[in-house]
Amino acid sequence: MKYNASDRIQDLQYFGEFGGVNPSISDSSTYTFISAKTMFDTFEGNTEGCYLYSRHSSPSNLYLGEAMAALEGTESANVTASGMGAITATILQLCGANDHIVCSRTIYGGTYAFLKNFLKRFEIGTSFVDITSLEQVAAAIGPNTKMIYCETVSNPLLEIADIGELSAIAKKNGIPLVVDNTFSPLSVAPVKLGADIVIHSLTKFINGSSDCVAGAVCGTREFCLALKDVNNGAGMLLGSTLDSLRAASILKNMRTLHIRIQKHSSNAQYLAERFESDGLRVVYPGLPSHPGHETMKAQMTEPYGFGGIMTLDVGTLDRANALMERMQERNLGYLAVSLGFYKTLFSAPGTSTSSEIPLSEQKEMGLSEGLIRFSIGLDNNIERTYSIMKACMLQLGITNAPISEGIQK
Ligand code: PLP
Repeated sequence: MKYNASDRIQDLQYFGEFGGVNPSISDSSTYTFISAKTMFDTFEGNTEGCYLYSRHSSPSNLYLGEAMAALEGTESANVTASGMGAITATILQLCGANDHIVCSRTIYGGTYAFLKNFLKRFEIGTSFVDITSLEQVAAAIGPNTKMIYCETVSNPLLEIADIGELSAIAKKNGIPLVVDNTFSPLSVAPVKLGADIVIHSLTKFINGSSDCVAGAVCGTREFCLALKDVNNGAGMLLGSTLDSLRAASILKNMRTLHIRIQKHSSNAQYLAERFESDGLRVVYPGLPSHPGHETMKAQMTEPYGFGGIMTLDVGTLDRANALMERMQERNLGYLAVSLGFYKTLFSAPGTSTSSEIPLSEQKEMGLSEGLIRFSIGLDNNIERTYSIMKACMLQLGITNAPISEGIQK
């Protein structure tokens, strides 16, 4: 049997001070030293196992960081106060004034806004490309390009990045490939495929309970230490620090990630297959009709499936809104942004999570106004969910394909 990420996480043991089965939570912002010399050495980054100040590191954050490194198979990982905290620190660590980034044109709206708008003040330019066109990616790289940036499975269009091929282009040009793996934890391990740095919004599947915001950067020991450097580290100096109490609760939730991801994926696969056979415009990487299906299949770890996110295009924003409201009334899920919750969440990205992207660019990338993004929940009886969703669509005239035989209404 292959030893995989879930086993690595499972094998991490941390005990509490009094033999507790969970590690004690570090309830301190600062730490005492017996020797002044050790304090100085810690400042200089020369002492393993010593804590100085919790913005730099804390035991609870280090435990969660170790679990994230185990998940992604990297030497190290730093946790942050949000996914955006991880993204902004990583980008600013790698880029200075007048540098350039090559980035997928379909990415989370906040990342897009940071690259497109915020980085202008440092004259850092970004070329947004179709990440599935390797020719476009290679052609966009110039002398000042400092990284290729993409999401394994893109938000919200679910385009699949070919990490191996992108890594080959990055390596040829001597630049890192930075991958946001928020949509596909456990399913895809980008570093194993050649990526250099992996970012997560822990807010989503990894925490899984929609009760906090957090992030992580996974990479080499050298890069993670550089982020924490007291003189020059973007993590340390921008100060996006995760609270220890939250780090401890996320670590506990990570213990069930392998079970949750399998259920999210199998439920999404079921619904996507049913809706596709009903003639609806559904996009899901687990469908052979998805243009990235084979790429995803080749790079994913089998039991975890194609992920919990699917989209459905119902044609117009009015219909999308009516359907989402109706589904919420029927307790199928919540009209809410974010993903990875036990309950299904749905939103129309064009007017929510991708609203930072101008309408003309949304159109160009294929983000239509009637598109609904679903984060499929952990429903016990997904056939029942299908039949209720289908009934909502029939009532609103979104489809006239009948509910399939043998499925209870
Ligand atoms: N990356 C992706 C793919 C996301 O979907 C999001 C948020 O939706 C983020 C990053 C940002 O994460 P956070 O909200 O934790 O800052």
